[in-house]
Parts: sequence; structure tokens; C-alpha cells
Amino acid sequence: MKRRVYFIEGDGIGREVWAAGRPVLDRAVELAFGDGRGFEWVELLAGKKAFEATGSYLPQETLDTLKTADLAMKGPLETPVGKGFRSLNVTMRQTLDLFACIRPIQYFKGIESPVKHPERVNMVIFRENTEDVYAGIEWQAGSPEARKLISFLRDEMGANVDEQSGIGIKPMTAKGSKRLIRKAIQFALDQRRESVTMAHKGNIMKFTEGAFRNWGYELAAEEFSGVVVREGEECCPPGRVVLQDRIADAMFQEVLIRPEKYDVIATPNLNGDYLSDALAAQVGGLGLAPGVNMSSDLAFFEPTHGTAPTIEGKDLANPGSLILSGALMLEHVGWNEAARKIRSAVELAISEGRVTVDLAGQMAKAKQVGCAEFGQILLANL
Ligand code: NAD
Repeated sequence: MKRRVYFIEGDGIGREVWAAGRPVLDRAVELAFGDGRGFEWVELLAGKKAFEATGSYLPQETLDTLKTADLAMKGPLETPVGKGFRSLNVTMRQTLDLFACIRPIQYFKGIESPVKHPERVNMVIFRENTEDVYAGIEWQAGSPEARKLISFLRDEMGANVDEQSGIGIKPMTAKGSKRLIRKAIQFALDQRRESVTMAHKGNIMKFTEGAFRNWGYELAAEEFSGVVVREGEECCPPGRVVLQDRIADAMFQEVLIRPEKYDVIATPNLNGDYLSDALAAQVGGLGLAPGVNMSSDLAFFEPTHGTAPTIEGKDLANPGSLILSGALMLEHVGWNEAARKIRSAVELAISEGRVTVDLAGQMAKAKQVGCAEFGQILLANL
């Protein structure tokens, strides 16, 4: 069985991590299943490579093809801060309705972490991916649009907004929140996880983040009655999942102090962005953190790191995040044996201390290897 995977190389270190990582994915499938299964890789253009070839950073053809796809994978794409074009990642998430960003956070033995017990971290973050302040509805301070909106807010809504403000809007819906929380609860039930924690800032932002929490409990009562119980409820049927919630700032303390108490986390967009990176750092950094963005049709896998411009072209990048995102893809299509081979190969490389610079700096006895060599080591370890 061949599975077609559309891929975008990405900017910055994208080319290097693909060159090191793709052969590992192909070889793992070959070793696990012989000739019977494999990926058919089809490249799509986005980012600088697309701009050079077509004059557009995100050609319509790429979006149209992705709208028909069920599997895709991408490298990181550059977004200039505070100027230039809108984030290609955000545009793709919204256009393709990739509403759930899912990031498993797991510790690999041997990596030095800034916390005492990184092995206690085993969480999966479900981050809402299309709404919140990420919706891209914002206007620069002093622009006619910002002034117009501020006049409306002051004159007609009685809001005390400084005339010189830049303005951003935070839309959140019951539909968007519920479909994300539904996916997190279903995952917890399927994977026999113990709890789903909604992390929100509802004490301050009552009608957006507070509503997210309320919609979550509403959904649990409507659709998961009997199998999902609220924290503190007595009835505990076997296989039940506990649904609880935490204020986002307390959540950041909790995952540091008591990570073993947290399992699946469902959270709005901005909290999810911060929390995923913080947790990835807790277990040893972004270089190994995998991720996937999902719509109801498409699973779009990607490393969680960015383009790392300062190390681009220097053979210093860690391809682990891309490779482990590939392992997630293998599990997603049910090719678990190949995924297991990849995880074991990564574990072995780490236990031998043969790692890229980002990890070598955090390990007592490590022999630093380049991006390409790390790929070769994993190939040999499969
Ligand atoms: P970054 O992830 O590129 O880099 C943060 C730090 O981590 C840097 O020190 C970098 O050298 C290091 N790093 C990142 N990936 C690494 C890897 N695989 N191996 C070794 N070291 C690695 O984040 P940034 O500097 O904030 O962003 C740079 C660019 O990437 C920006 O344009 C940003 O918008 C973009 N970005 C894209 C994505 C994406 O496409 N999903 C995600 C994050 C950032």
C-alpha cells in the first residue's frame, strides 16, 4: 500500500532537516513492511522557494492541492515580525481549517533538562488553531481603521480605549472551542488517558476564555455523559476520563511542579502556543518536539521549531522534530511498527550521546554530530 504525502520543504533549515529526515522515514517503513508499503512524496511550493519560482509565497495551486489531501508534511516557514506578509502558517491553518494543533510532549532518557524529573512529563496538548487573537484581525496604531474602531468603541460601546492604541480582536466561538475539546476528549478515551484539562484565562477574559471552559463542560454533558466525569465527581465508571480546568498562569506552575497530574490538555490558541514551547523546553528543547495540525479531512504534520536562520546552511540543525513528526504520521496511518523503529533509533542515538548541537549542549557526555550525520546514525539504528 502506497500513501501519498504532499510535502513543503520550508525555509531556513527546512532543506537540511528534510534531507536528513526523509530517508529515515522511508527506510523505517521498508524495514517494517518490506515493499508492501511506502510513501509517495509529492512536493508543493510555499515560502521563499515558491516566491522564487512563482512570485507568490503561497501559490493558490498549493492550497488547492492541500484542500484535496489527507496527508501532508511541512518544514518551517519564515514570518517577518511586525512587517511584510501575513504568516503563511496562520494563513494555511485558517484556509484549510486546521483547527487542532496536537503536540505530544515526552521525555527522551539521557537528555538533560532544566527540571528535576522530566520523565514525569507525558502530555498531549490540543491547541485550538483558528480563532483567538491569532485570527489576524488587527490594526496598526494610528491607522484610519484603528481610529474608526476606537471611535466606535468609545462613542457607542462606552469602552475606555486610548486613541493611540493598536487594536487586535479576540474572537472565540462555541463551535471552534467544542470541536477542539471534543477531539481532545475522544483522544483521551481512545488512548485510555486519565484526564483532559482545559487551560484558560477565563477569570479575566470571561466571554472568550471563560466561555471556552463553559463550552467544554457543556460538550462533555451533551456528548460524553457517563464516560467523562468532572473533577471531584464521585461516580467513576471504568475507562472514564476526568474533565477539569485550570487558569492558564496556574497551569504553567502546575506543569513544572506536578507534571504527572496532567495528561491531555485542551486550550485556546495563544495559551497553547506558549504552553507547547514551555513544555518542549522542559523535556529538552524544540529540536525533538513533533506536531500535527488537523482538520476533519487533512492531517498536516510539522516540526514545531522555526526556520532557525542563524544556523541555516551550517549542518547544525536537529532533524529530530521533523523525523518524530513523521513517526506521528506513521501512527496516524496505523503503521505503528515503523514508528516504533524510529523512536527506538532516536532513543539509541541519545543514549550513545551522538546528538546535534542543541542537545549536545544539554548533555554531560555527548559527541556532537551534524544534521546529516545524525540522519545517518538514525538510519543505522533502525
Ligand atoms: P526558531 O525555532 O527558528 O529558533 C529558536 C531557537 O531554536 C534558535 O536558537 C534556533 O537556532 C534553535 N532551533 C530551532 N530549531 C532547531 C533545530 N531543528 N535544531 C537546532 N536548533 C534549533 O524560532 P524563531 O527564531 O523564533 O523563528 C525564526 C523564524 O521561524 C521566524 O520567521 C518564525 O516566524 C518562523 N517560525 C516558523 C514556524 C513554523 O513554520 N511552524 C514555527 C516557529 C517559528
